[in-house]
Amino acid sequence: MFCKVCGEKLTPNNLYSKDKRFCDSCGTKHSEYIKDRRNTLQSLREMNLESKIIQTKYLIKQAVAEFGLDHVYISYSGGKDSTVLSHIAKSIYPDILHLFANTTNEYPETLQHIKWEKDCNGTNIISVLPIDGHSESWNFKKVVCHYGYPMFSKRIANAIRTYQHALTERTQNNSLEYIDRNFKKYKKYIDDPISDKCCEKLKKYPLKRKARELGLKCSIIGILASESYQREKDWLEYGCNVFHERKDNQSRPLSFWTEEDIQEYIDRYNVRISDLYYMGYKRNGCMYCGFGVNLEEDGKNRYQRLKQTHPAQYNYFVKNFGDLMISFDIPFS
Ligand code: SF4
Ligand SMILES: [Zn+2]
Repeated sequence: MFCKVCGEKLTPNNLYSKDKRFCDSCGTKHSEYIKDRRNTLQSLREMNLESKIIQTKYLIKQAVAEFGLDHVYISYSGGKDSTVLSHIAKSIYPDILHLFANTTNEYPETLQHIKWEKDCNGTNIISVLPIDGHSESWNFKKVVCHYGYPMFSKRIANAIRTYQHALTERTQNNSLEYIDRNFKKYKKYIDDPISDKCCEKLKKYPLKRKARELGLKCSIIGILASESYQREKDWLEYGCNVFHERKDNQSRPLSFWTEEDIQEYIDRYNVRISDLYYMGYKRNGCMYCGFGVNLEEDGKNRYQRLKQTHPAQYNYFVKNFGDLMISFDIPFS
């Protein structure tokens, strides 16, 4: 192993103990850098909404200046955050392209909102259906049958898939150890049909394919650093606009916004959002997705809410996936 920054060979004598990617001296510098970045993020978050909008517009303009308006697109989910992003981007570039990945697992309200944006609000949106490199169509049920259910969390589902597909006894033991160390509680599900392949088949790959087909070079995404530890960590390392640094170019111009800012913007500019938010939902993600459902309160989890708000979709869910939920110990009635 070599230090990620200076390339020096890492030995037990020079290894930075808190982060094994670095030598002692680079690791110390890096941790100071991250500390500074954390302060910067804090100052950005403390700005008022007006200043945040200006900064967001500046970041979007930077992406357009770097790649050209014909080579960037808004990654649009139909949710609150991406609707605010779309509203801001359209105020500078009214025809900017939006790509929406229709995972076949969308709430009807999300699809209605997309239709409204397209037909009544003049938003330039292309809906992308899950079709793979061999022109084969996919849908949620097919992914579950082929690969397994997206359950608990991406990391847990990934660990279970790795365990199940290990080619040698050694890798299988390693992944078992990893699960034991990090997700002991979920060890009993290691032989269940669980996998993290779903997002890749229904969302990531179709979007990538469409972007390639249209010659798009940079996605503009409405994610907030405050959404998860991973997103914040990623911002501290890379910032809002990540150009020519990683495999995919990305602009994340809302990174330093908070959920309250999003709501304030919606109220102030009277932005139309999906009806789903008026039915008690806080997120507009996929209807049957199991990521995070184990952390929701029994009696009020997404499936139990679905029963109240969307009985037809709920009946389909129970008929097709009810047995799986029983084996995963997820309450749904
Ligand atoms: S969010 Fe969940 S259900 Fe939707 S595509 Fe990703 S893994 Fe599948
Ligand atoms: Zn170094």
